[in-house]
Amino acid sequence: MTSLLVTGIGELVTNDSEAGDGSRLGIVHDAAVLVEQKRIVWVGQAAHAPAADTAYDVGGRAVVPGFVDSHSHLVFAGDRSAEFAARMTGAAYSAGGIATTVAATRAASDEQLAANLARHVAEMRRQGTTTVEIKSGYGLTVADEARSLAIASQVTRETTYLGAHVVPPEYAQDPGGYVDLVTGPMLEACAPHAKWIDVFCETGAFDVDQAREILQAGKAKGLGARLHANQLGHGPGVQLACELNAVAVDHCTYLTDADVAALAESGTTATLLPGVEFSTRSPYPDARRLLDAGCNVALASDCNPGSSYTSSMPLCIALAVREMGMSPAEALYCATRGGAEALRRDEIGHFQLGARADLVVLDAPSYVHLAYRPGVPLVQELI
Ligand SMILES: [Zn+2]
Repeated sequence: MTSLLVTGIGELVTNDSEAGDGSRLGIVHDAAVLVEQKRIVWVGQAAHAPAADTAYDVGGRAVVPGFVDSHSHLVFAGDRSAEFAARMTGAAYSAGGIATTVAATRAASDEQLAANLARHVAEMRRQGTTTVEIKSGYGLTVADEARSLAIASQVTRETTYLGAHVVPPEYAQDPGGYVDLVTGPMLEACAPHAKWIDVFCETGAFDVDQAREILQAGKAKGLGARLHANQLGHGPGVQLACELNAVAVDHCTYLTDADVAALAESGTTATLLPGVEFSTRSPYPDARRLLDAGCNVALASDCNPGSSYTSSMPLCIALAVREMGMSPAEALYCATRGGAEALRRDEIGHFQLGARADLVVLDAPSYVHLAYRPGVPLVQELI
């Protein structure tokens, strides 16, 4: 068994409040980390580090846990840059643009979809993302949803069946028939490749009764429930997520006081996706309100070709700080350990003993630079 001592860490964020300075980020200065078999086996001040087979000095840089991006849609073909350009010249965003990507995705080969996925995952890794959740939802036939999830499961175990993304054009006159498909043969074909089930519960997509039926069918098949809700306006989705004990409810841009109270009392994580508000020129969610109420909050990219074509968690951190009322420390926590909680993963998003050694070295003296220097490629390397 070989051991690697990563040393010369000017600022180490452990996300372990028992470590270091006692803050939620558990910061250790002049730190070192000992790694064996890809796991953290020792954390502390470099001066007290144990011996190791090899040592690697990061030259005083900051090291943070790899980002956990708990919401993305990376199995697709085509792009929607023309739609983006139109939106930036005044057209409104609606869920309808998804159909454009559905047509391109159905027309693509498995190889094309896998190559596009690999390119985006590599792009994420370059920006410090070490765990990513990937949804289907651009196939919307039994075969296309199942192959989307099979392809996604080649690169992550965090796969989400989103047959209920929108009602596809061929079911426009029979949305109930589509719900029957999603909860029947499509679920049957997709469940073997999925850990989670998700529904887009929004005007223009699925209403609350349809969403409840779909999530309950998925839960009966052993899938964990997640939900897209309260993105474009107020609605019942957040309350439904809490009622069903969903692991996460994502977007949460429009919330009533009752929604915030329900989230605070639940075990459901509110996942905020500021790339969407940026890319659709929409009002940002109020992260401060959720954090002050004691809700579990995560940050994710929602990387998709329509409403948020960014794969950058550092950009999401910067937006959360600048536009949503988070401190730099809160934003980093939500983008790492918050995301891990939203995937029910306890071995990632932090550097407690036994955690997966997903070390992101920043070419910066502090994690604060992630928000302080937006748009700058600060990720030096992944260890
Ligand atoms: Zn999404």
